[in-house]
Amino acid sequence: MNAILRRGACPALSLPMQTGDGLLVRLSPLSGGVTPAALVGLCGSARRHGNGIMEVTQRGSIQIRGLTPASARQLAGEVNALGIAVRSGVPVETGPLAGIDPDEVADPRPLAEAIRAALESAGLLGRLGPKVTVIVDGGGRVAMDALLADVKLTAVQANGEPLWRMSVGGDASATRALGFVGQTEAIVAAVRVLEAVAELGLHARARDLDHSSLNRIIGTLVREDQEGPASIRSILARQPLLGIHTLANGSSALSVALPFGSMPADAIAELARQAVELGAIEIRPAPRRAMLVLGLSPDAGSLLQGSAVKLGFVTDAGDPRLHVVACPGRPACGSGLVETRTLAEGFARQYASLFDGSVTVHVSGCAKGCAHPGTATLTLVGDNNGVGLVANGTARSRPVGYIAAEDISGAFERIAALVEKERRSNETAAACLTRISMLAAQTFTTQEQD
Ligand code: SF4
Repeated sequence: MNAILRRGACPALSLPMQTGDGLLVRLSPLSGGVTPAALVGLCGSARRHGNGIMEVTQRGSIQIRGLTPASARQLAGEVNALGIAVRSGVPVETGPLAGIDPDEVADPRPLAEAIRAALESAGLLGRLGPKVTVIVDGGGRVAMDALLADVKLTAVQANGEPLWRMSVGGDASATRALGFVGQTEAIVAAVRVLEAVAELGLHARARDLDHSSLNRIIGTLVREDQEGPASIRSILARQPLLGIHTLANGSSALSVALPFGSMPADAIAELARQAVELGAIEIRPAPRRAMLVLGLSPDAGSLLQGSAVKLGFVTDAGDPRLHVVACPGRPACGSGLVETRTLAEGFARQYASLFDGSVTVHVSGCAKGCAHPGTATLTLVGDNNGVGLVANGTARSRPVGYIAAEDISGAFERIAALVEKERRSNETAAACLTRISMLAAQTFTTQEQD
């Protein structure tokens, strides 16, 4: 290890990032997953060298925090000794069920591998910013639609043959669909788009390319996007990730999520130990802060699911904790000004009715906002004035009001009661909270920061 990254870059195992909670590393297994025994070992390393809490990110990478330069070096050595090969270079991501999903239109792994090799041959590895990403989605039951990607290729059945629907620069709601490509054209098109991004510099992303540039670069490679309704149908038909899945080889996989994106390393290790006893062969970190246990029988899947509930994992797609993000906070993080997980647990448990799918709540131990740099419907942020409330902003935004941590439960109750009273028919909870945010701020507190 010879450097420490600034915030905003991608903290590889060999290049940790400085946070308010010491150094952070992020790792993605090269093969997609690790053996359950290796995960037990990794949890032990995280406990010995980090703050004892492990995270799975929204994109499905493992994060370990609270490291020092010396302990980060030791962790890297132990990961190596555990036989966990980690991904490097431009991320070319596939879904966690890639190649074993009975519903996928095409196995995305060969195309992903060919794109990785082509990007390397084109000399692009050092010329792209650290967040530039390609997603190759086999079109199966685990949707990758919500994830941002510079280039996204999604398999669809078009006129009886699998093709790749190509888009650039966003997630499903903010993407530019370019049309269809075959496998060979997909490789060339991905390289050309990323070469054009590299020309713009290390801070550029594919969203910076205008329409006429894209047309000039890949216009001859793509076929017209005439299959919109079919591809939209395939997206809508996909199932939520959580639960027990029957795979193409007849075995079962259990998918669980980490509440608030993190769990004590000991709880993850215990799940992995039980997975070993039940015959699991692999555990894959997965998008939306989940983990997928592979190689189970249906009965073993049910048994492990019961254990996961007892250990505190999220196993039900209706669990409100899926819509709350919290950093480790106090006492795990030295910069934490509030006990984030206690607040987050209380909020999700007491106000489940708020979580109609439209609301995201972020509980941050301080203004650094490590767990969720983006905007949330409500952000509760630890501050020397108490807990700050931010509506439709980030942990760094100016709070509209403050309250003492010990009074927070009553404040939540007032906000929930207000939403119940003010919510119009056909209005989402998020839209209602946005509309009444100033009212909510008044019920939350009467204090104002200078
Ligand atoms: S946001 Fe949370 S994890 Fe990050 S430094 Fe602040 S308290 Fe620590």
